[in-house]
Amino acid sequence: YDDRDGFIWMDGELVDWRAANVHILTHALHYASSVFEGERCYNGKIFKSVEHSERLRKSGELLDMELPYSVAEIEAAKEATLKANNLTDAYVRAIAWRGAGEDMGVASKKNPIRMAVACWTWGNYYGDAKFKGAKLDIAKWKRPSPETIPHAAKAAGLYMICTMSKHAAEAKGCSDAMMFDYRGYVAEATGANIFFVKDGEVHTPKPDAFLNGITRQTVLGMLRDKGVTVHERHIEPAELEGFQQCWLTGTAAEVTPVGQIGDYNFEVGALTREIATDYEQLVRR
Ligand code: PMP
Repeated sequence: YDDRDGFIWMDGELVDWRAANVHILTHALHYASSVFEGERCYNGKIFKSVEHSERLRKSGELLDMELPYSVAEIEAAKEATLKANNLTDAYVRAIAWRGAGEDMGVASKKNPIRMAVACWTWGNYYGDAKFKGAKLDIAKWKRPSPETIPHAAKAAGLYMICTMSKHAAEAKGCSDAMMFDYRGYVAEATGANIFFVKDGEVHTPKPDAFLNGITRQTVLGMLRDKGVTVHERHIEPAELEGFQQCWLTGTAAEVTPVGQIGDYNFEVGALTREIATDYEQLVRR
């Protein structure tokens, strides 16, 4: 990803893609003091753009990092980046981090908070699993307690266990891993939220130990508009056997059907297809 043409917005200006570098003593690289966003632009418009910019600032606050840019400035930065790269359909990555500076220890209040925006074309996050139904492994790592990490932040440090879980899943031929939380309840995949269907009703984990995704909230609204009964609750592992359909939601994942989690199988059923199609239409509206 580092060796290509294009422009990346960095600290207020557009720089050449290959020159968008940071120093090796960047605080974030050593201590994970970094928050980011994943967004998608469809037909020239970023879906829920302001919500993503607000979440970026909120994630920063949760990590004791006040971003030096307002929501309006972040919006302008994203727009400028898309324009500079001549993209109307793209994935947008905004990131803010504590840079290199006076401190090299854990405490780093004096180091500057920096920000960048990059965008690129990114197709289906799960490849053809998007149509067939993704195969998920069960992760050995658990989403930590809210007393351990600020789970509502989209922060780099929370992704360490996700990367390890996804690597283990891919080594077994799976597209992703489903993670349980610290209590043993079903939580989410490594970069997407999860929904289940049983007898026409939807069940989805309560987001009390993981990111309450913007796509998740969008899909909940769509389901309620359709009059589908939704249960947001704690889901026990043993319940997986009784669910008939399953899908994942996320900005990158969009709505991706799940065909298998460990030894449990799910059909890519009518409601799953309907939600996936409706979401595709909604984001391009
Ligand atoms: N959970 C995790 C761990 C994620 O990385 C993502 C992607 N941001 C999501 C859930 C879904 O969030 P959203 O719908 O806001 O993209």
